[in-house]
Amino acid sequence: EAKHRGGGAWQWFSHAMDEGMQLQVEMRAFIHDAINQQQFELFYQPIINQKEEIVAVEALIRWQHPQRGFISPAEFIPLAERSGQIIAISDWVLERACGDRARLKELGIPTISVNFSPIQFYRDDFIDKIKAAVENFAIKPGEIVIEITENVLVRDSEQIQWQLEQLQELGFSIAIDDFGTGFASLRYLGTLPVNILKIDRSFVQNIDHNQRNAAIARGVLAMTSELGIKAVAEGVETDAEHEYLRKHDCALMQGFKFCKPQPLDKLADWVKEQKKVARKEPLK
Ligand code: C2E
Ligand code: MG
Ligand code: MG
Ligand code: MG
Repeated sequence: EAKHRGGGAWQWFSHAMDEGMQLQVEMRAFIHDAINQQQFELFYQPIINQKEEIVAVEALIRWQHPQRGFISPAEFIPLAERSGQIIAISDWVLERACGDRARLKELGIPTISVNFSPIQFYRDDFIDKIKAAVENFAIKPGEIVIEITENVLVRDSEQIQWQLEQLQELGFSIAIDDFGTGFASLRYLGTLPVNILKIDRSFVQNIDHNQRNAAIARGVLAMTSELGIKAVAEGVETDAEHEYLRKHDCALMQGFKFCKPQPLDKLADWVKEQKKVARKEPLK
């Protein structure tokens, strides 16, 4: 799938992965330049409720390389995780997301959802950094959702549990991203502080006629309802998928059907035209 999306840049990256060290060193230099020359941008994609009002926007990083063109985060984030550069990238993302929060708030958007890498959780200063960022920008933690994948839970789970508990105590919401695709045990749902499960796009695709996907998604919806937590269906693209999910009481959705990830200015225009914002319904 990534092959189709990434085009030339993907080929270059996958080639580099095959070639091993030397090109990986080159890529590190590329990412280093991207950080220093501010080649990154943060796009935002709405998460909507059943009335199609925006309850949150997810921040998604974009990299437009001056020579190589668009490089997908699905390709460079894993590389940056290996090289350790994910920390610098994540610092930039957090800073920018917090910086953009004021404008999003003006638009009436109650929450911002930010992707975090497992690598960040393995650093001692992780919680202090988030605390400092929200304090600097006078943001209430309740306005921020921390998205993590299940894989964060696989390693050193006591330490992770403690960190998540701290974050939740501070008021942040915790979302498990790409739910159902990771390697963690379901048992974590019994003990970990989790507010939101994001049902991975692979289960949402063709949900209206793929009975296995439908069964899995309905199972997750029943489970979240019993647990008293929220579910977001990711990657809703078609009317039929939307309709099916709505019929099965999926309250929250995200996908190209509603809105693609946009730069902040474009998102602001879109919101002003549509005026669909759930001011008093944060994603928590
Ligand atoms: P994710 O967090 O699961 O983000 C959702 C991905 O699905 C995004 O891809 C989004 O553009 C895409 N998407 C949304 N709706 C649809 C749809 O209807 N159809 C299809 N086909 N795709 C849809 P994107 O932006 O390429 O990001 C890919 C992954 O890269 C993200 O998956 C996340 O894991 C990672 N990522 C993106 N930004 C960041 C970031 O700032 N920090 C970290 N650590 N990871 C990030
Ligand atoms: Mg995400
Ligand atoms: Mg996801
Ligand atoms: Mg995903």
